[in-house]
Amino acid sequence: MGALLDLLFPPLCLNCRQRRRVRLGLCAACLGQVEMTGLSACIRCGRRCLGRCAPLDHRYSRVLSLAAYRGPWRQVVQNVKFGRDRTVALELARELAALAAAAGFARPGAVVPVPGAGKSWRNFDIIALLCRELTRTAEAPTRAALARRPGRPPQVELNFKGRLEGLEDYIYIREETEFAGAIIWLVDDVYTTGATADACAKALLAAGARSVYLLVLAA
Ligand SMILES: [Zn+2]
Ligand SMILES: [Zn+2]
Repeated sequence: MGALLDLLFPPLCLNCRQRRRVRLGLCAACLGQVEMTGLSACIRCGRRCLGRCAPLDHRYSRVLSLAAYRGPWRQVVQNVKFGRDRTVALELARELAALAAAAGFARPGAVVPVPGAGKSWRNFDIIALLCRELTRTAEAPTRAALARRPGRPPQVELNFKGRLEGLEDYIYIREETEFAGAIIWLVDDVYTTGATADACAKALLAAGARSVYLLVLAA
């Protein structure tokens, strides 16, 4: 039935809404405008930053992002984030799992979601979907080990070591979580400053994790 509907009403590009989509929610023309950063990006910020992010000293080991967060890709991410297109959401989750496999990351002891603000959109949680797919392909359990205090996040500041500080007490590890030398794949939808991921990584390392890799849809 779905295939027949697709034939009669081909799904449109999430960006231009005109042409038929070919992959990852976009038509060929819009997909061509996306900067697929993947393995070629900076390991600290997930972007092709040309070393501009170098002064920041994060606690996670590496960021891996599918693409740069602008143009058509921004439309795609916004659409899946707010639960408007679950078919594309699953396609993105598979793409991210394939990227993690291509990166040759060591097998994780756990896949951990960055804790959200406690809101789901249309009963849909993109980060949970990404975790499910990564759990399946990496054969490691998803563990919601982190939590976030309610309310507005505190201001983030740069300290003398070049670290983004301020969210440490806002994000915390749930009681009795012990990772005993495990590698953690931390999962978020969009990477911005890295402050949240850094606070998450700090808590995970304190709970015994050996290293933390961050996987995101966009940076
Ligand atoms: Zn398009
Ligand atoms: Zn960078």
